[in-house]
This record gives sequence, C-alpha cells and structure tokens, in this order.
Amino acid sequence: MTSQHQKQESVWDVTESPSIKTYTLPNFRDLPQIQEISEEKQFEMEVVGNVLPFKTNNYVVEQLIDWNNIPNDPIFVLTFPQKGMLLPHHYEKMASTLKEGADRKKIQEVANEIRLQLNPHPAGQMELNVPTLKDGTKLYGMQHKYKETCLFFPSQSQTCHAYCTFCFRWPQFVGMDEMKFAMKEGEQLVQYLREHPEISDVLFTGGDPMIMKAKIFSSYIDTLLEADLANLKTIRIGTKALSYWPYKFLTDDDAKQSLEMFERITNKGKHVAIMAHFNHLVELSTGSVKEAIKLVRNTGAQIRTQSPVLAHINDDANMWAEMWRKQVQLGCIPYYMFVVRDTGAQHYFGISLVKAYELFREAYKKVSGLGRTVRGPSMSATPGKVLVDGTPIINGKKVISLRFLQGRNPDWVQKPFFAEYDEKAIWLDELKPAFEEKFFFEDELKAKYNIQK
Ligand SMILES: *Cc1c(COP(=O)(O)O)cnc(C)c1O
Ligand code: SF4
Repeated sequence: MTSQHQKQESVWDVTESPSIKTYTLPNFRDLPQIQEISEEKQFEMEVVGNVLPFKTNNYVVEQLIDWNNIPNDPIFVLTFPQKGMLLPHHYEKMASTLKEGADRKKIQEVANEIRLQLNPHPAGQMELNVPTLKDGTKLYGMQHKYKETCLFFPSQSQTCHAYCTFCFRWPQFVGMDEMKFAMKEGEQLVQYLREHPEISDVLFTGGDPMIMKAKIFSSYIDTLLEADLANLKTIRIGTKALSYWPYKFLTDDDAKQSLEMFERITNKGKHVAIMAHFNHLVELSTGSVKEAIKLVRNTGAQIRTQSPVLAHINDDANMWAEMWRKQVQLGCIPYYMFVVRDTGAQHYFGISLVKAYELFREAYKKVSGLGRTVRGPSMSATPGKVLVDGTPIINGKKVISLRFLQGRNPDWVQKPFFAEYDEKAIWLDELKPAFEEKFFFEDELKAKYNIQK
C-alpha cells in the first residue's frame, strides 16, 4: 500500500539507489569509457588534472555524459580536465615533468608554481571581506560583502560531489587555502548575526554544503534556529548536488534527514532558498533530478538556479532558453547568469562581455515572463555584482551600459554607467569609462578599501 502510494505520487520513474563512486586522477583510467579514448588524450587529462582539481562520479559518468559525443560533450568538458585549460607554456611544463618521471614532491612543486600564476585569489576575496567580531576575532570562514547577506563556509563542506573544471574555488580544493576559508563553529555565526541586525540572509556555501552529512549540517542549522534571531529571514544553500548527486535527496541514508532539516527551517517561519547550480539542460533530464527537485520543493524550500556562461559548455542561447523553460516547468526560479571570473582557466571558458550580453538577450527573448526572473550576465567583481545591460549608442558613440546588482556601497546599485565599447573585454577591469576619467565608484573604492576596480 505504502509503496503503491509512493509510486503513484512519483511522476518520474526512479528505481536505482546507487552509492557514490568518485573518479579522480589516480583511478579515472579504470573507467571503460576512458579506455576508449586515445592514450594521448588520457595523458592530456593527467597533465591538467595534476594542476587543477579533478573529480567526477558514477552518476555524472553514467547518466549525464553522452560518451558518443566525446570530446565535445558539455558535461564531459564540465568535469574532465581539458588540455586548453592550461596555457601552452604551463601545459608543456607539467607535461615534461610527468614525462621525466618526476616524483610526487617534484610534481607538487611544479603544480604549485603554475597555480600561483593563475590568480588564485581574484576579486579581493581573501582579506577584504573577512568579518570581525566585536571582541576582535577574525572570522575566516565567513564573508560579508553586501549588507543583507553573509556567506558562511562550514569547515566540513570544502569539497563537492564532483568538480567543475571552470570553478573559481579551485584553490580551496588543491589545498592552497585550506585553513583560511572554513569555520567550525555555528556559535560564531550566531554571534556575528547578533552584532549585525542588517543581515537577513545567511548563505551556506563551500565547496558544496550538501556534501555534509545531514547530522553535521543540522547542527549548524539548529544552532541558528535555536538562537531565535529576528533579523534572520532566509537561509540559502548554494549547491550543485541536484545536478551532480540527486540521490543526496532521494536514496542516500541521510536523504530524509536533510529534507527534514529544510522543513524545520520552513516551520520556524524562515525561507529556505536552494541556490542550485545548473550549467546545462542535460543536468535537468534524468528521472532522479526531477524527483529530487520535487522532494526538495515539498519541504517548502524554493529552488533558484544560477550558472556562469561558459565557452565549450553552454555558450548557446537556445540551450539557455530551453534550460530556463525546463527549470520553470520543474518549479525552479531562474536567478543569475554569471560571467566567469578572472582565475584558473578563464582563458578557456571565458566569453567576451559583449558576446555574453548578446547571448543573454537572445535567450531571454525566447522565454515567458516566468523565466525572466533571471538577471545577467553579471560579473562578481571587486566593487560588486556588475550587470552588462546593453550596447547602446549615446550621442553618436557606441558604449557598453552597465549597472550594479550588488555593490560594496548599496547606494551604487541600479545606477546606469557606461564603458567604451570593447568587443574583446571579458572583465570589468578591462573596461574604460566612456564619458569620464573614472567610473563613478572608483574614488570611493580606493579611499575605503584601498583597491582598484
Ligand atoms: C552574490 C553574492 C551574494 C548574494 O547576492 P544576491 O544578489 O543577494 O543573491 C552575497 N555575497 C557575495 C560575496 C556574493 O558574491
Ligand atoms: S559545484 Fe560549485 S564549488 Fe563545487 S566545483 Fe562546481 S562550481 Fe565549484
């Protein structure tokens, strides 16, 4: 009776309940699908995988990647290292180190040398946004950049169910930041929220917080809920688990507990916002992701979706339009389209701001109003989240129109400003003001934070 009842409720036919099996540098060649690929290509993956993080899993390999479409399959590019991710001289350096048969220590040295040249800490992440308690304690596991929202990095969530090849958090995964970006104590978070009544949203991030066992995650959440903070309205969870491991919400042994945790937040009168990371339509195609979305939504949580726009993975307006439509159909709310940051493999995945804008507009045109909750393309840059709003002609001059979605100073938000038209620029710091000496926020940014755009 019970199972029949469940069967009826489920629109999607999910029968499997696998355990996660991860594939990384030491064992990826065990995959039969990899053995089909030439030795030369396998070596390329090994070279890149020794510098940038590499991890995938059985769900991604068996259900998301179309192995008849190698090397162009978007999910293959999303999780398996690609030769072009390293600049040629970095690639050659690591390739020759491996060919010489160097030992682990030497390989590590070369890897770190290359990594340090990849701008591991873009947008002033490291020191600028580290909050301090009134007693002087520095909270390295938190960031507080925009007034209403603080980011919290639990120490147990510094990994993910698989790694995205473009991820800007790669320094955390290769151990370059390990100690700096993590926090063990929910009490310190509570204390900070008490001292900052302007904060309404706490965003759990990582890595992926859904990598935590429900018991551990719950201890943070319950500490927050028990503190009865009137200012705390929303708990956000930034995750790619729906895409990389939907069984976290379906059949893992703590699936039910995780969902119950969302319900506890909702029952306490707070909003649970799952900030779900989906890069491609394919990630929304399996019965398990659809069922997982349904179960999450049944807890009262809302799912908002976001992704960067990426060459070789999703630089296709029709795909974006279809992805947003599918998300709306499944009850998710399209939220942000990002531009990829200036770190790691940006030269491989980045697309120009003008191209990103055109792609966004092409896709946006094609969806109904319910899909137009999405905003973008947006750069998470040092002064704030900056949206590329168009390429108008003003007084006979073609420019790029920009505006802040979030600013270090909230007063910067929503004021249009203009840069010289530049088809090649891929980041804010490459743009020049169109009509003035400086952008309107530059002096303040320099005076307050001693930084440049
Ligand atoms: C994006 C972001 C937030 C959240 O901003 P919203 O526009 O409210 O989604 C908070 N902190 C940082 C550092 C961010 O980059
Ligand atoms: S899931 Fe998020 S944090 Fe993890 S590798 Fe991908 S982009 Fe990075």
